[in-house]
Amino acid sequence: MHYESDSIISLKGKYVYPALMDAHAHFFGLAEHLGECNLYGAKTVYEIIQRLKAFHQKNSERRWLLGRGWDQNLFDDKKFPTKEALDSVFKDIPVCLRRIDGHAIWVNSKAIEESGINKHQQVKGGEILTDDDGNYTGIFIDNATSLIEKHIPSFSTVEWIKLLMKADSICQKNQLKYIHEAGLNFWQIKLLDSLIEKGIIKTKIYAMALPEKENIDYFEKHGKIDKENFKVKAIKIYADGALGSRGALLKNKYNDHNSYGLNLINPDSLKRLLDFCYKKGIQVCTHAIGDSANKLVLQSYAQFLEKKNDRRWRIEHVQVIDSSDWWYFKEYKILPSVQPTHAVSDKNWAMARLGKKRIRWSYAYQSLWQQNRMLALGTDFPVEDVSPLKTFFAAVFRCDYDLKDTTPFYLQEKLTREQTLRGMTIDAAYAAFMEKETGSIEKGKKAEFTILDIDLMKVSKKELSTYLLKHQ
Ligand SMILES: [Zn+2]
Repeated sequence: MHYESDSIISLKGKYVYPALMDAHAHFFGLAEHLGECNLYGAKTVYEIIQRLKAFHQKNSERRWLLGRGWDQNLFDDKKFPTKEALDSVFKDIPVCLRRIDGHAIWVNSKAIEESGINKHQQVKGGEILTDDDGNYTGIFIDNATSLIEKHIPSFSTVEWIKLLMKADSICQKNQLKYIHEAGLNFWQIKLLDSLIEKGIIKTKIYAMALPEKENIDYFEKHGKIDKENFKVKAIKIYADGALGSRGALLKNKYNDHNSYGLNLINPDSLKRLLDFCYKKGIQVCTHAIGDSANKLVLQSYAQFLEKKNDRRWRIEHVQVIDSSDWWYFKEYKILPSVQPTHAVSDKNWAMARLGKKRIRWSYAYQSLWQQNRMLALGTDFPVEDVSPLKTFFAAVFRCDYDLKDTTPFYLQEKLTREQTLRGMTIDAAYAAFMEKETGSIEKGKKAEFTILDIDLMKVSKKELSTYLLKHQ
């Protein structure tokens, strides 16, 4: 076929793809992380303390010392760290460090003191770890984290804008054009809206609003936001916590703990929210990681959805799911939204949490793809790296991209190259009702492209690994 054009650009042999989209990420979370001490990959508590000391020296004006990214699964003893380790170095400044999955915090005594928490405080949907004498160990999980976090002074608007611009440039560097932002407060929506409107933020955002009063009131009065580069058409609900901190809600007890996980929403509130969204035509995106949480959400959705519907209600993560519950996705056209890098990051400890039987049906992306013959793919950054190519690597090869450990994790659940590319483009666009404007290179759609040096349909594992290590 021949095309005519006034201007022709030669890409000199590079490869052109539809604009890449991340179907589940935290843009604000990334910005926030850029203003905190980076604790990702730290293998010892000592290493964490060293990084905190260096960060504190550079940011001594801050009232609280904040960090994110620690993971006790990387420590030798795999045990949760304690407040004493922080107290020995940071006595006078409150310290609050988020776990890599964002579902737990590790704090020092000063932070507990500033928060004025009394002993024996209980939190629904949350847990405060204590030692044998009933003293706080310094670990707060899920809903309990807010006891501390509500006392942390927020960044100023100017600081936020600077951090959001940094996050934006990281997305641009990774050639990520679109993001589904998985859960924003009202003030965050307003700030992003104005920054995108003014062209200060270039990344285009499809946002899910958190079900807080101001957001609900806004939907009630004004409906959804549907601008060219900024849309808010969904509500994000949390059904449970995360697997790493044993907050994911399981049908049977954890393999390595005498508990089932945490239920973050009761069925009645969930029903009320779903009813609101159904009537207003708002998409629902619910975080569900454990098999029990997934079942609860699927059953609740099924009470509202017709068998053939175009509401595109989603479940975010769908990490552990009983194969006997898969049929709901197909029957009610519910969309799974998954993050392939999680399978690779979690593979070394997920077995301990779940045991042999359940692990087989966890991170089961190919089986989930088969339900609707599509799968929206994302990263969940800053839980994982922003790079969409790392998602591609994890989905297709199911092993660490640095190839230090090449044992693949249940290879039968890998995605094909085409399924993966679709998951990062057209399927992600579909999951945001945007498939008519973007997601593929077709007449009538926006001429937006991601241009790469590599051919994703052919690149070998080794070549892609080398490429990723070079472009860290
Ligand atoms: Zn998330």
